[in-house]
Amino acid sequence: MKILVTNDDGISAEGLWTLVRELQNIAEVTVVAPDRERSAIGTAVTLRQPLRIQKVKEAVPEVETYAVEGTPADSVILALCNLVKDKVDLVISGINHGFNLGDDVHISGTVGAALQGYLYGFSSLAISTARENSQHLDTAAKLAALLAKRITSDSLPSPIFLNVNLPNLPPAKISGAQVTRLASDSHINTVEEENDSTGKYYRLVRQRLNKVTEEKTDVGAIEQGNISITPLYIHLSSKPPPPIDKLCAGLLQELQKC
Ligand code: MN
Repeated sequence: MKILVTNDDGISAEGLWTLVRELQNIAEVTVVAPDRERSAIGTAVTLRQPLRIQKVKEAVPEVETYAVEGTPADSVILALCNLVKDKVDLVISGINHGFNLGDDVHISGTVGAALQGYLYGFSSLAISTARENSQHLDTAAKLAALLAKRITSDSLPSPIFLNVNLPNLPPAKISGAQVTRLASDSHINTVEEENDSTGKYYRLVRQRLNKVTEEKTDVGAIEQGNISITPLYIHLSSKPPPPIDKLCAGLLQELQKC
């Protein structure tokens, strides 16, 4: 299996390398990621500036690693058009330091990168966990590896595009693994006005609303201690995704045994 790994937290992020070390046990991994943090940049691509790529020393032996002076989406396009010569089986973006739930998928660079993989016809997975601490990155990495094996098996539809979030819990405390839909009205933006020596400026503040009133949403699943797996699709060009319930069957039990 060949997996392209990227992220939006940048090439030095702990979540990226925790993921790569785990995936290396099951796949040939190539890393192409932004050279710095580019969170909340969504699907942005760089069309009016030159893009530079630097092959960097492998942080994990035998994993080809490239740092891109561009966005997460730029990284995936450069990888699939230029750097990764053979077809990949899967694109994985993450592990993001911070959830990507509900409306956040529209601004998330993690999801924006996975979207590019999907647009190129590859199954793609965005995976995120809590920002507060990184002690459960190992769990997220193991889950990514389990999902990679299931996604690339013949029994699931292909390509699929999934947004995965893990609760900030050790594996034994996770309640379950649910197929969810995106919560609506999941965030609120406020604008703060401040002053400095050059005058007035503004700061956008984005907060998640922990609403659990809607059934089967990603926000609700996380609030109740579940792994949330949301199949995404592109309204303008494709049909709703086929059922993926079997992706979750026995998943938590398998993760707890890892
Ligand atoms: Mn990020």
